[in-house]
Amino acid sequence: MRSEAGLSAVGFQIPLSVPLTGENEGRYLQECLETNWISNGPFLSRFEERMAQISRRRFGVAMCNGTSALHIALKLAGVGPEDEVILPSLTFVAPANAARYLGAWPVFIDVEPHSWQIDPELLGRFLAEQCDGQLRNRRTGRRVRCICPVHLLGHPYDVRAVETLANRYDLPIVEDASESLGASFHREPVGARGLMSCFSFNGNKIVTTGAGGILVTNNEELANKAIYLTTQAKDDPVEYVHHEVGYNYRLSNLHAAFGLAQLERLESLVRYRRAVNRRYREGLANVPGLSFQAEAPGARSTFWLTAIQVDPDRFGMDRRQLARHLEHQGIEARPLWQPLHLSPAHRGSFAVGGEVAERLQARGLCLPSSASLSSENQAICIEAIRSAR
Ligand SMILES: *Cc1c(COP(=O)(O)O)cnc(C)c1O
Repeated sequence: MRSEAGLSAVGFQIPLSVPLTGENEGRYLQECLETNWISNGPFLSRFEERMAQISRRRFGVAMCNGTSALHIALKLAGVGPEDEVILPSLTFVAPANAARYLGAWPVFIDVEPHSWQIDPELLGRFLAEQCDGQLRNRRTGRRVRCICPVHLLGHPYDVRAVETLANRYDLPIVEDASESLGASFHREPVGARGLMSCFSFNGNKIVTTGAGGILVTNNEELANKAIYLTTQAKDDPVEYVHHEVGYNYRLSNLHAAFGLAQLERLESLVRYRRAVNRRYREGLANVPGLSFQAEAPGARSTFWLTAIQVDPDRFGMDRRQLARHLEHQGIEARPLWQPLHLSPAHRGSFAVGGEVAERLQARGLCLPSSASLSSENQAICIEAIRSAR
């Protein structure tokens, strides 16, 4: 196994989240070269089958990144211009962008303060009180078309509560499980529920293909449609006839080969990240003003990133100052995302609450969480935090 690089690409001795690769990544890539299966090829279907199996789905359609998988999934869920897509206020921006590619608008529902996931109670109130019988948002006049909950930071959202609401209102769920491959809720893997689920294999995720994503589903028609749309919508591939505007979103065999080797080590990658989280909790216990993202009952988080809350009054400095202090020691720490109801790019979207997301973001800091983070280097991080105040 390759150990953590001395210096990451961004110049930190201890980076936030870097891939952990082994021998099979190289071996499978070599096999691609030797067989000349580069763009298409057998690794692509093996990778898709493995991902479908991991997420207990019948089908997987791999794409060039997680954002394109979300784009296609939302389109296949029937999202179109001037529709609304329900998202959490606190998330990486990708699913909101995917909704906007279709001319649709996000509705940002605040998160709950313990495990930081979309708040099912607020979601229920929005659907019951702020929408009419046709699911038209009374304030915007737009029709709610889909729920796109996000499993944030390796932790599952409350799948049961959200699904109950989705069923009550007959709304499809397109899950964004990009950050949480390997997590489970009441022993069921994330990605197993809803009409479709999407994953990302970007370089900082728990499993990477360099760049990549996948849509998984039990619906054969949707899976076939996803393949069709992501390969330029070829109706007659010989005569180049197209009935629809398609996309060039398919994952290459090279990427899939790399990803298949990564998936072989998924369970150990999850265990390493969980161990990192446990060591932070132990090492930073009793430090006044620091607290952690909680693991909800029934949830098994991967702790893809370990994130803390820094209370400036009790800790003695705010999360920006702490991040700078760590940076001086070569340790990379990053804030959470700007809550999307405040994002200039998504002005004009509807929001329900948002104060919890704002507070979490104001105090949130993600700590180095790589699976390859050695206990020695982690001890350096812990000591740097303890001695900062
Ligand atoms: C990483 C991520 C994505 C997808 O990112 P890509 O870089 O396009 O693969 C989507 N949603 C969330 C919440 C993410 O963190």
